[in-house]
Parts: sequence; structure tokens; C-alpha cells
Amino acid sequence: MRLYNPPSPLETKVVSKRFGMENSWKLDTYLATGGFEGFKKAMAMSCDEVINEVKASSLRGRGGAGFPTGMKWGFVPRNTDAPKYVVVNADESEPGTCKDRLLMEHDPYLLIEGILIAAKAVGASKGWIYIRGEYRYLVDHIDAVLKEAYQRGYMGKNIAGTGFDFDLYTQIGAGAYECGEESALLESLEGKRGVPRIRPPFPAVSGAFQAPTVLNNVETFCAVPDILRNGGKWFADLGTPKNGGTRMVCLAGHVNKPGVYEVPLGMNMMYFINEIGGGMRGGKKMKALIPGGSSCPLLTADECDIAMDYDSMAKAGTMLGSGGMMVMDEDTDMVKVALRIMRFYKHESCGWCIPCREGTTWLQKMLARIVDGNGATRDIDLIGDLAKNMLGRTFCPLGDAAAMPTISIVEKFRPEFEAYVAKNPFASSELVQVA
Ligand code: SF4
Repeated sequence: MRLYNPPSPLETKVVSKRFGMENSWKLDTYLATGGFEGFKKAMAMSCDEVINEVKASSLRGRGGAGFPTGMKWGFVPRNTDAPKYVVVNADESEPGTCKDRLLMEHDPYLLIEGILIAAKAVGASKGWIYIRGEYRYLVDHIDAVLKEAYQRGYMGKNIAGTGFDFDLYTQIGAGAYECGEESALLESLEGKRGVPRIRPPFPAVSGAFQAPTVLNNVETFCAVPDILRNGGKWFADLGTPKNGGTRMVCLAGHVNKPGVYEVPLGMNMMYFINEIGGGMRGGKKMKALIPGGSSCPLLTADECDIAMDYDSMAKAGTMLGSGGMMVMDEDTDMVKVALRIMRFYKHESCGWCIPCREGTTWLQKMLARIVDGNGATRDIDLIGDLAKNMLGRTFCPLGDAAAMPTISIVEKFRPEFEAYVAKNPFASSELVQVA
């Protein structure tokens, strides 16, 4: 198994602590390094006690939304005989994000143990790991791990002699970004076209096959075993208030040491880039940064002296997102960045709602027109207006995901758009109205 970078002594390793160990994905390695201790503790607790421990950890969803995990589990109804399910969102499709694949490659039993603890907490007996289509190779890997788990009594009936039964399956997606949205994922899991559901009801009440379902991201489940093993307070204390624990950050772009690192929530972003990421490549100045995947509003270099936690990022007008951090140096063409991002979202729009389907199409056209030297000044305003009109008017977050980075780039880097437009001799002519 590959590692994307040598570990840094400045990391705090919780979910990535087995990365680099020999045969880290094997059950014997897992058991020899504290594996299933959290599950065994959970089995001696009541459902409420398990959920309260997760609440005490301040663990928030690592997929992007940052919703408190314990609270989400608490929404699953108890007073029902309906089957309950656990679904893992392994549809890691946000550009710049590649940490869940490492967790599944290097420490799949950590994910399995987290799933089993969630199942115990809500009384589920069956679950699926929904893996993005582009990670086809991982399905074989996880299936082999599951086969070993069943053979060794860590999946199926009477797991690890505790009397607890649970069955877990893999399900492959078909390569749609949209299926990272939880309700579209559930549609796809059920064999239907992956478009979002109208909510409420939310998956905790009506999820897979209309049954109550716990649905979390891979990294979120992977944090749970150590929370049960060491206590929620231990995990919470690693981070900042309401932002417990660590998180994986995928550092990419113009830095000296790109890679996937695990750091405590609340670490200063510039400290992370300079001390762990090795600073800017070639001694260049930083111009901008995408903090947590391409759907996040961008930050200028001056805005990056902030704590990397959900609340600090929200105060700065952006998001921690899915952990995909992309650093751009002074030579980066921000208009082309906006066009590249929009090409992705236009391609991935499922087409169900008009503001997203038409908005991404027209934003791409206008951005391409500017880059091709045919833009007019009014195009710059129109791009900003159109993107703002998409916000909050689509069925799922993809519309916002396309609009937010675009708005921030136009607002923060407008002179670069104007420089493109200035090169067009017909920029003020009515002729340039033609798309
Ligand atoms: Fe589909 Fe886009 Fe509407 Fe989401 S926002 S439902 S991806 S068209």
C-alpha cells in the first residue's frame, strides 16, 4: 500500500496511526494494536451511553457538512420494529480530497469497528459501504477484508463472542459526484438513478429502503473506535470546543510537501502549510487557497492566518469542507481556476433542477468567453449575479457548491477578470452579447 508522504512529527495521529505499519490492513495487526477494544466497551454499554460518549467527543461529520455525529445517531427512532441500517459514504468525489481511500486501504478494520459501534448504538443489523466508482480497486480490497472478518468471527453472527449480529456489504457507485450527497447516495444504493430526495424525512428516520439509517463519512466512522476506547472527553480535548479531535487534511498545490496529514482541529492554517507542508514551493508567495474541497469559498493569502476548525472557518466565510486543501501561488491564473471548477460542476450537475443545470452551463460559457478573450465588463457582474441567484435555490448542495467558489473568486480577484476583458478590443461593444 502506498503512502502519499512521510509522516510529520507535528501530526496527531488517531485515525491514521496504523498507516505505514506492515500489513496494517490485516486483522492480526489490528488486534495487536488495540483493535476492537472500543467495540467491546460499547457492547457493555446501553445504546444511549454509546451515543452520549460520541456526543461528548464533539465529533462532527468529516464529509463536509460538519453535523454533530452523536446528535445524528440520536435522531434514529427507538420505538420501532423496522429494520435499521448503517451506510458508509465512501463516495469521496470532492476535488482535492483523497483521505478516505487511504483509510480504507491502510486501516479498513478501523472503519469496520466504527460501523459496528454505530450499529450497536442504533440497533442496526445490516450495513453497506458505498464506494465511488473511480475507487473500483478498493472494492476488491474491502471485500477481501470482509471475507477475513467473517472467517475470523468479526462479522456476521455473534461478533467477537459478544452475541451481536451484523452483516456488511460493499456497493460500488457509477462515478457520479452527486451520489456523495446522502439522499442521492441512498437512491443509487437502492439501484435507482442517483438524484437527491426531497427532505425531510432525513435518513435517520427514512433512509435506505425507507428504514431508519445512520449515514456517515468514512473518516467519521474511523474516529469512533478510539472515542469509545479512550472516552469522548479525550477526543474532544484534542481539538477546540465544539470541534473535537483531529482531521485528515489533503494538502495539494504549490507547496513543498503535498500529502495527506492528520492534525488536531484548531491548528493554525499558516502553521500547517509552513511547518507540515514545507511552505511555498520555489519561494513563491501564496495567492489563494481552497480550504476544504473545490466547493468552498476561496481565501486570499491574507485570510489564511486562522484556526482550522468548523466554527473559525465559518466566521471567515468559508468551510472546513471535506479536507481537500489546495494552495495556489502568485503565478496562478484565478480566472482559469474559476473556469476549471465550473467545468467540473457543469459536468457533474445531475440536471434535475434548473438553477443548477442552467446556471452551471451558463457560468461555464461566460467564464470560457472571458478566458478566450471575448468577455465584456458586464460579464464579470453577470457571473457574480448568476452565481448568487443559484445559492439556496437548488434541491441539493451541488448548486451552492458551484456558486460559492465562483462568487468568492469574482469578488476577491476581480482585477484578474478585468485584465482579461481589457485585452478584448470589442469589450464595450454590443456585439459581445452573443454567447
Ligand atoms: Fe441535480 Fe444540481 Fe439540482 Fe443537485 S443542485 S439536484 S446536482 S441539478
